[in-house]
Amino acid sequence: MIKLRILLLLSGLLFFLISCEGGDQQQFSFEEQGQEVPEFSADSAYQFIGQQLSYGPRNPNAEGHKLTKEYLLNRLQDYAGQRYVFSQQFTAQGYDGDSLALSNIIASFNPQSSDRIFLCAHWDTRPRADKDSLNQDKPILGADDGGSGVGVLLELARIFKDNPPPIGVDIVLFDGEDYGREGDFSKYFLGSRHWSENPPVKGYSPRFGILLDMVGGKNARFPKEGYSMQFAPGLVEGIWDVAEDKGYSNLFISEQGNRVSDDHLVINRILGIPTINIIHYSPSNNGAQFASYWHTHNDDMSIISKKTLNGVGEILVELIYNRIEGSN
Ligand SMILES: [Zn+2]
Repeated sequence: MIKLRILLLLSGLLFFLISCEGGDQQQFSFEEQGQEVPEFSADSAYQFIGQQLSYGPRNPNAEGHKLTKEYLLNRLQDYAGQRYVFSQQFTAQGYDGDSLALSNIIASFNPQSSDRIFLCAHWDTRPRADKDSLNQDKPILGADDGGSGVGVLLELARIFKDNPPPIGVDIVLFDGEDYGREGDFSKYFLGSRHWSENPPVKGYSPRFGILLDMVGGKNARFPKEGYSMQFAPGLVEGIWDVAEDKGYSNLFISEQGNRVSDDHLVINRILGIPTINIIHYSPSNNGAQFASYWHTHNDDMSIISKKTLNGVGEILVELIYNRIEGSN
């Protein structure tokens, strides 16, 4: 009996490990559904980024962090309705013993639908500019690194208000993604880890998730990120196919990229929800090569491209309104 139990335990563990690390072999085919698709406004997304930056750096406990949180809650309450916006507050231990007051901000659209997807980005910015040659200890503005993903998602939220999506969509803005010092993974992804370990909705099981990180830079390129290909290859291929159909294969390039640890890795590992990362970098032999402004004070509005924002936004509205079958 004990042996059987151990055997069952081991096979359960093995199944758990396979389902966690073996990747999701689910195929996603996003055929055209002949539906009308609302227009994504890159001008509006651009303004949403500028507004975040106007509050200053958004690193945990900074003044800009508090102000931006208020701003995001206000915007989302306006678009989703007050009842469907939730601030998931928690604390984490920072460096130098300070306690970080963090919040994941969540908004649900078409809340009645049990058939759901989620879209996410991180809203915090890095408390240091470790890749800069000057003022390395000062927080960055993070126009692309944080701001762009949130800007695109706010624009989608604005669209959802007037054009209720045919499938349930949750927008999740994670806090504390970029807090950690280089190499110290225990202090990165604080928000996505908290959310994954404490899902606000019991048994939450969306079809899939899409993470947007650094989706607004000039001359951006999104290779098929390594962990996304490991955990949800069918989803990557499906979305890159939509991009090709829409003439964006210069943005969503058909190239396998290096693995980039990011919020989606935490979600795939803890929740097992197939989640991919759309992120700008160049694959290289030494790992992922990020843009020259990455983690520097140059990550400001001057590097943001409406053309890039438009490509990402257009693919997402196409996917949500015209490519998902069988939603209600
Ligand atoms: Zn970063």
